[in-house]
Amino acid sequence: MLLMEGIDILVSEVGPRDGLQSISAIMPTAQKIRWIDALVAAGVREIEVGSFVPAKLLPQLADTGEIVRHARRHAGLHVAALVPNAKGAQAAIDAGAQKITLPLSASETHSLKNLRRTHAQVFDEVAEIAGLLSALPHGQRPAFEGAISTAFGCTIEGAVPEETVVALSEKLMALGCDEIGLSDTTGYANPAQVKRLVRAVHTAIGSDRMTGLHLHNTRGLGLANVVAGLEVGISTFDASQGGLGGCPFAPGASGNIVSEDLVFMLEAMGLRTGIDIEKLIDARATLAAALPDEPLYGFTPDAGLPLGYSPAG
Ligand code: ZN
Repeated sequence: MLLMEGIDILVSEVGPRDGLQSISAIMPTAQKIRWIDALVAAGVREIEVGSFVPAKLLPQLADTGEIVRHARRHAGLHVAALVPNAKGAQAAIDAGAQKITLPLSASETHSLKNLRRTHAQVFDEVAEIAGLLSALPHGQRPAFEGAISTAFGCTIEGAVPEETVVALSEKLMALGCDEIGLSDTTGYANPAQVKRLVRAVHTAIGSDRMTGLHLHNTRGLGLANVVAGLEVGISTFDASQGGLGGCPFAPGASGNIVSEDLVFMLEAMGLRTGIDIEKLIDARATLAAALPDEPLYGFTPDAGLPLGYSPAG
């Protein structure tokens, strides 16, 4: 997406969606709102606040419409939501989401298992969503991202050919997505692969159409992969407060990369995120209070900031 003023890198907080959908506890709406407000107070500019899926599938996110409507009251916040299909997209539009993300698994086996859809069926949904969006007045049209999951490897199929990811990116753009994101759903990515695949997708669809990465820290390479992404021009990184969610497989490693560690690294490198790391660590307390039984990850919150640390900007 286009960067906001005063920001070099956009940290897109996905904890309220990716994090909360991965745990069995259901965070009450009032506590979600308190957490989102604390994130906004820390300077977070984009939050994926939920997913428009049937409540019987993900009761943790049944209040997404209400959460979107609350989040929209924060001027300057970009409110994103995940949608699995056109029905979800319509609900997201009705609630006022400013960005809708539709996931497509590069591995068709994974797609069938997780979404119970073939690639062709997902393409039909993408085309239908593009139709819904084009019927909206210009200023009310949310951005439409096609997010290619298992882009760096799949727990069922193993290696995912880069040509497959490139071809899917081209197909999603042709069907009407505004931009493509790549997700390392399984935590298989390494920095060399990140650079190679991002360059290949950039060559195919244009570097301005693929600006975001969703990386996991399953094998400890999350931040190394972020640096690789920075080196090939990526400007948006998804992360989750406390590393919540993203299905961690290895003890001690979170699934999603940890927002606090990501912001610390970027700011220490002189890249402005707009986020105040100390206030972000304060927001973590709101999350911990709401989910006392969930482990929260992150080295920076545990170790504290280095003596003499000064943020970018
Ligand atoms: Zn994730």
